[in-house]
Amino acid sequence: MLRTLITGGAGFLGSHLCERFLAEGHEVVCMDNLVTGNPDNVAHLIGNERFEFVHHDVTNFVYVAGRLDYILHFASPASPIDYLKLPIQTLKVGALGTHNCLGLAKAKGARILLASTSEVYGDPLEHPQTEEYWGNVNPVGSRGVYDEAKRFAEAITMAYHRYHGVETRIVRIFNTYGPRMRLDDGRALPAFMGQALRGEPITVFGDGSQTRSFQYVDDLIEGIYRLLMSEEVEPVNIGNPDEISIRKFAEEVVALTGSSSTITFEPLPADDPKVRQPDITKARNVLGWEPAVSRSEGLKRTLQYFRERVEVPQTL
Ligand code: UDP
Repeated sequence: MLRTLITGGAGFLGSHLCERFLAEGHEVVCMDNLVTGNPDNVAHLIGNERFEFVHHDVTNFVYVAGRLDYILHFASPASPIDYLKLPIQTLKVGALGTHNCLGLAKAKGARILLASTSEVYGDPLEHPQTEEYWGNVNPVGSRGVYDEAKRFAEAITMAYHRYHGVETRIVRIFNTYGPRMRLDDGRALPAFMGQALRGEPITVFGDGSQTRSFQYVDDLIEGIYRLLMSEEVEPVNIGNPDEISIRKFAEEVVALTGSSSTITFEPLPADDPKVRQPDITKARNVLGWEPAVSRSEGLKRTLQYFRERVEVPQTL
């Protein structure tokens, strides 16, 4: 039986990966230090004899007994407010954590997939972003702790591939949403849905003209699975090219929830990218992958999840 380690396995993406690899028949070792992950995300998997949870911080030496066929390194604070609150941990998990996971992959003869990010493109001067673009990142800005950690993680992953011959894969993940996002993670989608459901003003940062391209989590998980099983060593963008301004996105969320919330404008955070849209030509050609879930469908599914978790004032 194949055995797969998922770091950050109790997080938003990690928990969906645990489910997918269990469904593929693997044994899954889910490792998380629960700093931003939540055991509730994998509580329904406890009791499955092929699932194991290990409470561990991967910035310390990672020991896993027995064989490992695959490692997916997803441990990291990943939302801007999380990595601004945890700047050193973010750098450590991208650098030391990735190093430890690569060492483990080498020792076990396992294939490892690194969760990288569209943040490696920074505030991009090329639009849309192809994998060949090297990015426009401010190393000393507040977002630099995440962006540079992931850039270092990509570099050391390629070094382990070239120098040690480890089988490596790198996915560059664009904005992703869906069930198990934290309501309070500060990202646009949970913030807007929570505000809309409570009837509070929607906080759009800046004038809302900055754009993002949001993909539904199921599409991402499919892309990751295909990349892991492919022979592609260079980074691959996985995202939905359907680009929208943050202001229009806020309006869509308000309309979907049927809320009476109004929009308020707040200061734009430092180094907030002005545009972001994946060029997914490579994923289409190499993996035969493209997103299948439209934003309207994905938002509906996500709203259902948040509805059950938001405390709505009596007056609504
Ligand atoms: N954003 C916003 N209001 C919020 C949270 C985020 O207008 O309450 C903006 C944010 O400034 C950014 C965009 O929405 O321009 C997407 O932010 P998110 O944190 O979701 O992801 P990232 O900036 O990492 O793409």
